[in-house]
Amino acid sequence: MVDTQKFVQTIDELAHTLRELADSGVKGFDCAPEALNTLESWGGRRPPRRPHPNPHSQPRPQPAESLEVIREDIGDCQRCKLCRSRTRIVFGAGSPQARLMFIGEGPGQDEDRAGEPFVGAAGQLLTRIITAIRLSREAVYIANVVKCRPPDNRTPAPEEIATCSPFLRRQILSIRPLFICTLGGCAAQTLLGTTEPISKLRGRMCDYEGIRVLPTFHPAYLLRNPEKKRAVWEDMQRLMEEYPYEG
Ligand code: URA
Repeated sequence: MVDTQKFVQTIDELAHTLRELADSGVKGFDCAPEALNTLESWGGRRPPRRPHPNPHSQPRPQPAESLEVIREDIGDCQRCKLCRSRTRIVFGAGSPQARLMFIGEGPGQDEDRAGEPFVGAAGQLLTRIITAIRLSREAVYIANVVKCRPPDNRTPAPEEIATCSPFLRRQILSIRPLFICTLGGCAAQTLLGTTEPISKLRGRMCDYEGIRVLPTFHPAYLLRNPEKKRAVWEDMQRLMEEYPYEG
């Protein structure tokens, strides 16, 4: 026996969900007006339409999940072999509402000891860069592709990046900054899914899930190659041109 009332309720809920998906721009379900009208007529009533969101007048979307939840999920991570040599997990630091996020490669020795990203010599240079663009470490968010120090500061291996980068993705989607500045080749290649060298990527505004991504050189590289500071300064000026300092 078909429970008519339950059937009507289910159809109504389905139609409502599909209508909401269609309103928020989702494709791939059958959200065509004809299909929705048919579903709604089966359900016997038309679900109330939500007003169309105006992206310009809306507050920033609610974060999908908090940084605390992501950190809890990481726990005392043993998912890859970097756990064997690390002292502390370096999750990230800064404002959960940051409009600008910096992403490096992975903790070095100082960061491994402190449990904070970019606190060593490269970190001090990053702090100067942040100050030069009229922001502070507290106003931005700083994270790394891998959260544990690779031994001898080697580049993280592909499987270590693959294991750890889902947490970075969740951090990014939690914060939803307007801009991400990737530092060095590893962060740019990981986010953009490319093998292009940083020398080609730097200074080119790219996209990650609707967030503007500007790859630039890593501060540690600048310490070894100070003549590249000019290029980074050009990249920062580009960022400053678009960064909403007011409001
Ligand atoms: N280099 C990085 O990529 N990240 C840090 O946190 C420190 C140095």
